[in-house]
Amino acid sequence: MKWSEEAQQALERVPGFVRKMARRAVEQEVRKKGLDTVELDDVTTVQGKYLGYIGKEESDKTRVAVVRCEIVSEVCPGVACFKSFNRRENHFADYQGEVEMVGFFTCGGCPGRRAFRLADSLMRYGVDVVHLSSCMLLEEEYPRCPHAKQIKKMLESKGLKVVEGTHH
Ligand code: SF4
Repeated sequence: MKWSEEAQQALERVPGFVRKMARRAVEQEVRKKGLDTVELDDVTTVQGKYLGYIGKEESDKTRVAVVRCEIVSEVCPGVACFKSFNRRENHFADYQGEVEMVGFFTCGGCPGRRAFRLADSLMRYGVDVVHLSSCMLLEEEYPRCPHAKQIKKMLESKGLKVVEGTHH
């Protein structure tokens, strides 16, 4: 896919944490039109559609989400995940600056297809990092998620950073 100079410059003004996602979205729209060159209008259209909610003052925030086990969610309201996030402890301890939780959802049941679908929605809200909840990864009351690796790989293939774990 070719990019005109104006389109390329406009893309460079998109906040870094969503630039990769913006490039993909723009190219997808241009392909849908049967064209092979991105023009400035294509970038501004996609910006309006997906990124308009991100004000300049918000662009430095880190946005995180947590995906957790559907089975475990029947007995766990997620208190420990939120406690860790709110206190920036355990797997949330390394964040610097302003951090916002923008999503907290279950995988939808084995093999975790909801995570595949929700990743796209979350990206529209500028998510940078998705944590796999500790309940997916630990052998305790419930077995470790047999699909965790696949879920992680899929999230990473969308350009998202994935952290394994939340509260322990
Ligand atoms: S895919 Fe993994 S996280 Fe989701 S319900 Fe099955 S075991 Fe739990």
